[in-house]
This record gives sequence, structure tokens and C-alpha cells, in this order.
Amino acid sequence: MEGLDVYFHNLIPYGIMTLLAGVIIFLMSLNLIFRGFKSPMVRATFLFCICLLVWLISGGCMIIAPHFSIAAQLGRFFYFAWVFIPVAFLNIAYVFIGRKEKYLLMFFIVSVIFAAAAFFGMLHEVQYNYFGFYPKLKYPWNIIINTYYFTAVGYALGLLYVEYRKASTSMRRNQAWYLWLGTSIGFIFCLSETTYAVSSTAGLEETLITWRMHYVNFGIQLLVAIFYALEIITYHFAIKGKKFFTHFNKSIYVLCVLFAVNLIFSWLMYRYAYPLFPWGRAGIILAFLFISYAILRYRLIDVTELFQRLLVYLLLSAFFFGIWVIFIARTAKENTSVVISILYGLLVVAFYNPLYVFVQRFAKKIVFPKKLDYRKTIMDMSMKVVSVLDYQRLIEIINDTIVNIVGASSYALLLHDEESDMFMPIASHGVESTSLIPLSPMHDLLRFIRLLNKEIFRDDLEEGGELLSPEIVAVFEAYRATFVIPMTYQASLRGVLFIGERKSNDLYNQRDVELLKILANHIVIALDNARLYELAIRDGLTRLYISRFFRQRLSEEILNSVRTGRFLSLLMIDIDHFKTVNDTHGHQTGDQILKELAHIITDQVRVVDIAARYGGEEFAIILPETDNEHAMAVAERIRKKIENAEFTKKIRQTVSIGVATLDGKKAYSKEGAARNSTKTVVRGRAEALKTDMIRIADEALYEAKNAGRNKCINGGMITI
Ligand code: GH3
Ligand code: MG
Ligand code: MG
Repeated sequence: MEGLDVYFHNLIPYGIMTLLAGVIIFLMSLNLIFRGFKSPMVRATFLFCICLLVWLISGGCMIIAPHFSIAAQLGRFFYFAWVFIPVAFLNIAYVFIGRKEKYLLMFFIVSVIFAAAAFFGMLHEVQYNYFGFYPKLKYPWNIIINTYYFTAVGYALGLLYVEYRKASTSMRRNQAWYLWLGTSIGFIFCLSETTYAVSSTAGLEETLITWRMHYVNFGIQLLVAIFYALEIITYHFAIKGKKFFTHFNKSIYVLCVLFAVNLIFSWLMYRYAYPLFPWGRAGIILAFLFISYAILRYRLIDVTELFQRLLVYLLLSAFFFGIWVIFIARTAKENTSVVISILYGLLVVAFYNPLYVFVQRFAKKIVFPKKLDYRKTIMDMSMKVVSVLDYQRLIEIINDTIVNIVGASSYALLLHDEESDMFMPIASHGVESTSLIPLSPMHDLLRFIRLLNKEIFRDDLEEGGELLSPEIVAVFEAYRATFVIPMTYQASLRGVLFIGERKSNDLYNQRDVELLKILANHIVIALDNARLYELAIRDGLTRLYISRFFRQRLSEEILNSVRTGRFLSLLMIDIDHFKTVNDTHGHQTGDQILKELAHIITDQVRVVDIAARYGGEEFAIILPETDNEHAMAVAERIRKKIENAEFTKKIRQTVSIGVATLDGKKAYSKEGAARNSTKTVVRGRAEALKTDMIRIADEALYEAKNAGRNKCINGGMITI
């Protein structure tokens, strides 16, 4: 019994390490998904990684489990790993048929050849090796699974390597490099270790742990190591051809060192067998550190998102495994279980996706309502933005979304201004006003953004502690930006959105960036709509509303006034002796005066007032919720301002103003008598009131002219 104690004592670290490896690989595969890889290749990789996870975790559990029967039960997880194999295989097939990537196909074929060679070459020895645990099992299926796993991780490494080579920014490149390095280290170490640990588990009886078994194990490891190296080399040759020795040096050095280290550790382990602590596991810890570093440093994972996915996969695993244990594993005979496994695998293929969608929805709704809320709110805002035509209101919504919902401590929105051909800051928060500098379209940053046509992080601009472009970094610093999103519309860069750090100091992850990109896209469309609308309703010379818009708004305001029982006033303004100005100074000067005068008017009224250019040199102002007395005060103020103002060429100018007011209450009580009026009748009455109002204000204006000009005359209340 003492021997057995020693055995377990030494196996526990193996088990823990194996479990850890399982989790790391799972995280790595999740990570691939999170980084926005949506290709079926990645999905296939992901699936393989899930198999690996099941394999490693069950291996770990088997080793740690103190009792043989528990270990045997846990060992059934192996079957579960099996059932995914056809799924994975179908995915791979789909990838190659669908994408027609001949290099990857080549890589895959080579892998399969190696796998087959490994399988048949080792068949005899492996049977002996693997049968300890399932003595009645006729075929060493585990070895087939192993070879698939090797292929899968090799494949994942290939993907990471391609990402590393093709990455357009240094950040993505570094991130792929760290993942690749970590995965390679983890792969090599955990591969040999788990092969050893799992196969050794079979030898609970002392007699089975013989020199012969170690020898076989060593053989398997060597073969796998060679297979792995060949896989990577083949892959690289297929992709890069002759450039192999110039561009792949770094990776090859790392690989050589890893192989050497691994072989030394392995030799030590087999030389001294169990009494030696498994130093080889240091490799997995290293892998863990590298991958964790990549994940944290490059903001790859959102922890709640991760947890959510983990939950979904755990639920799914429990479901499929439960069915397997309850209905199949208990009843199946040993020699039929393989066929049943495959059939069950096909069933899983058929039901996996719908179940996944179902469980995911469930997990999102029940466990992560807040997270979902956050996303939904941004999406809603995004959609809402498009329908808002009011420029000012639009800026308010944008501000609210970015500052309050996304939680950015600062942001700045720059839009291309066609007149000056510059990118002008039009909205910002938390950025000093002196820092809000317009950018030329030829500025390095904008050229860079146009080239990449995607977000750029401040971190992208640094490589090995050196700034790639000090000019671009300076802009990031002025705008206190963590990253910048291009706003492209109809294939041209219309603006950029600088986003600062999160208020909570949380990092932005890929999902946040995606959401902000969608928002930015909608903002640029909305701003363009608002700009077009503004162009359509405003007069080109004075920037006041055009008379059509004025009439429309007057109708609306009359309806409002009648509905709410509030006053509504109207001012009609006409410039005195304007013809003389035109005759003596020319039309151009006249136009300039109109422009300046409109400016004074805009300054003198509230935001809610509607100032319009009614005719050539006539203006009209709607004053909602304003009684007659106040309207007269406003008119008088405008008249005085204009009287005292000095226009272009030191010209002095005066205006005459007529005022009219509607008493909403009176109108309402009149309306009240016929409350059942149809909409058409109500509108018709409002139109009549409008005509009256304009007429009365006009008559007052005419009176002002007759009374010697430069006067405000009160037309009084509209008679109802
Ligand atoms: P009154 O004091 O009676 O209003 O005299 P007035 O000369 O201003 O006469 P009226 O209001 O009839 O103004 C019409 C003149 O306004 C004709 C034209 O010279 C000038 N005018 C109208 N629209 C424009 C414009 O868009 N630009 C310029 N420069 N002048 C305009
Ligand atoms: Mg006139
Ligand atoms: Mg006039």
C-alpha cells in the first residue's frame, strides 16, 4: 500500500498540471473566437480545442481521483471527446471545400499522413501501452484521438502564425506572436506529459510499469515531436515558399530550444520515473504565463463574456455527456460502443447548433441581463441616432451614449468640413478646448487611418518602446485618446472618433470596439442626414430658416399653443429703405448687411424661437410660449440692437417690426365647444389662425412704416 501512496502522491501534480493545461487550451481557443475570427477554419480549431480540453481535463481527473472506480467513471469522458471528432472533421472538410485554400489543404493532408503513420507504426506497442485501463478494449482509439489533437493544435498554431505574418498593426502582430509562443510551449510540454501520465494511469499494477512501457512512451513522444516539427515546417513551406530561412528564423530557434528542453526533461523523467517531480510541467506554466500576458496586454478577453461562454459550453457538455452516460454508456457492449459513439457523434453534429443557440440565449437572459442591456442600449442609441435630424440634438445623444453608456472619460468627434477642407472638432468631452485642433486631410494620422480603414490603438504606435510616428502620437495625446475609429461613409473618410480611457479604468475589449464602430457608422450617416436637412430648410445667405419651413413650423406651433393653452407670438421685420442701400452701395453690400442683420436676430432670440427669412429683406420670428408684452420687449430689443449696430462699410440701418400674439387658452375654449372635431377640421382652423396671425403682424409692420419707420408696433391679440 505504501507504494500506492507514493504513486498517488506523485501523480497529483500531474493531474493538476493536466487540468491546468486543459483550461489554458480552452482559454486559448475562446480567445481565438473573441478576437473576431469568424471563419469556419477558426471554428474548426475551436472545436478541436474543445476535444483537447475534454481529453486533458478527464485525464487530469483520472489521475487525481483517489479511487479506481471513480477514475474509471471519469475515464468515460474520453468517449465524450470522441463524439466531437466527426463534428470537427466535417468542419474541416467544409473549410477546405468552401475556402479552397490549397496550401492549408496540403498542410492538412500532410498532417493526416503523419497521423496515419503514427497510428499504424505504433499500433502494436500502443495496444500494450493503452490497454491497462480498458483491458477488454480491442483497439487503441486514444491514439487516433491523440493524433487528431496534434493536428488540431498544429493547425491552430498555423493560424496564429499566419495572423502573425499578416497582421497590419504591431499590436496584432505581437499579440499573435505571444499566443503562438505560449501555445507552442504549452503544446510541446503538455503533449508529452499527458501522453505519459494518461498511459501510465493504466498501470495501476506495479508490473505494468516496466522499462518496456517507458521505452514505448518515449518513442511516442519522439514521434509526436517530430510530427509537430514537420507539420509546422510543411505549413511554412507551403505558405512562404523559399523565404523560409530568412523569415522564419525566430520561430525555428524557439522550436529548437523547446525540443531540446523537452527532450532533456523527458529523459530525466523516464530515467528516474515517478520519484522525480515533473519539472517538465514548468513548460505549461510558462505557456500559461505567455498566453495570459497576451490576453491581458492586448485586451483580448472580457471576463464576463468568457464566463458566459464557459457556462454555455459546460451546460452543453453536461447535456451531451449526461445523455451518453444515462442511455448509451450503461447499456452498450464493449464491442459495439465504437459504432454507437460514432452514431452519437453524428447526432451531436445535427443538434449542436440549435442547442447552442438556445442555451446561449438562456444564459444571456438569465445570467447576464446587465451585459445584454449595455449592448442593447448602444444598439438602440445607434438606431435612434439615424432618425434624428436635429444637429444639436444629435450631438447630445452622441455625447450621452459615449460618456454615460460606454463610460469613456473623454472623446472627440471630428468631421470633415467641405468649405475649409479640414477635419473640425464638432463635439467633445473631457478634452481641453486648446487641444481641439483641426486636422488636415493630409495629416499622417488621417492618411494612416484611410490606409488601414480600421480602428487604431495608441499602443499600435509603439514598437519596442519606440514611437512609430511622433506626429500621430502627439494627436492621440492632445485628444487624450486610447484609440480612434474612422468614420467612413460612401467610401470616403468623413470623420474620426477619438475615444479616451474608460472612467472605471476597465479596458475596452474587442466587443466594445465593435459596438463603438457601429455607433460611429450610424453617427456619420445621421450627421450627413442632418446636414442635408439643414441645407434644405435653411437659407443659403442668412442661415435662417426658409419661408416654407417657417410656415410649416407656424402651423405646428399654433396647434401646440391651442393644445397647451399657452401664448404664441409672431414678429414681422422689414428693413427700412433697403432699396437705397442697394442703389448706393450695390447688391453685394446689401447682401452682406442682410447676413449681419440675420446674425443679430439669431443672437437676440432663444434656441426655441424660430427665426426665418420671410422675403428678400423681410424676416419673421416665431416666439413659442411668449405673451404679447414679452413679444413687444423682444421686438424692441432687436430694433435697438440693429439701430445701434454698425454694418459693413460703416452703414447704419434700422428696421420696422410688427407684432401679433395668439392666446392659446381662448382658442382652446373655442375649440372646446367642438371637441369632437375631426383632425382635418382642427388643422383647417389652425391654418385660418395662421393666415390671421401673419396678416395682423404684417398690418402692424405696415403701420410702423407709416409712422416713420424704426418702430415696433403692436398688432395685439388675434381675435378668435
Ligand atoms: P421700406 O422702408 O418701405 O421697406 O423700403 P425698402 O426700400 O426696404 O422697400 P422694400 O421693403 O419693398 O424692399 C425691397 C428692396 O429690398 C428691393 C431690393 O432692392 C431689396 N432686396 C430684397 N431682397 C434682397 C436681397 O436678397 N439682397 C439685396 N441686396 N437686396 C434685396
Ligand atoms: Mg420689404
Ligand atoms: Mg424694406
